[in-house]
Amino acid sequence: MCFNLFKPSYHKPGRVNPILDTTVHCERVVSGPVEEVKRQLPALEYVKDYLTVNKYSRPGNSLKDVRGIAIHWVGNPMTSAKMNRDYFEQKKGGGTSFGSTQWIVDLDGDIILMMPQNEMAYHVGAKQYMDGIQDKVGKYPNAHMIGIECTHVDWSGRMTGKTEFALQELVIYLLVKHNLTAKDLYLHYDVTGKRCHRYYVDNPGKYADFRNNVDRRLGVL
Ligand SMILES: [Zn+2]
Repeated sequence: MCFNLFKPSYHKPGRVNPILDTTVHCERVVSGPVEEVKRQLPALEYVKDYLTVNKYSRPGNSLKDVRGIAIHWVGNPMTSAKMNRDYFEQKKGGGTSFGSTQWIVDLDGDIILMMPQNEMAYHVGAKQYMDGIQDKVGKYPNAHMIGIECTHVDWSGRMTGKTEFALQELVIYLLVKHNLTAKDLYLHYDVTGKRCHRYYVDNPGKYADFRNNVDRRLGVL
């Protein structure tokens, strides 16, 4: 609908309509110099709090080519990112379960990175995957996908506004960094059928809103 705002004289390559300067959506569809904005890696503030290299949560293997981002919920209301980071850390003691992601978004919007960005985590492994997904993200999706855990306030998986905003910033950062688009954004559910991120699985309209915001920010609508 934004196209209606353009007058023919503003369609010349390299010219930016000054009237549209405050409208991000419209800025993105102008060809020329503004188009290049979407390729600039946005700033992202986060804390590095790396797990110890261990068999169960930080194997130390490199990610292969990144083909997608997977969004998760921690499945434990009102727990902080640090508490969840420490949960993954204690997995190094051994046991039966493997699990981790690269990133966690806190209740207050702070972001923790749990291993170097080029390392693989265990977050979308399964005996059986959703039909067709391996054609997109590889036979072993963990090797090609970056995982983000989200904290949440209740068992519906509802996030604080700060968490959801920070999630959006992080997703955009990662998609730009790896030259991906909003089509490469997945829920854990899309990969394995697990009900994760629960809030987005159960509220597809809210998830569509989130994706549309990401899409709009990336300028590919
Ligand atoms: Zn998950």
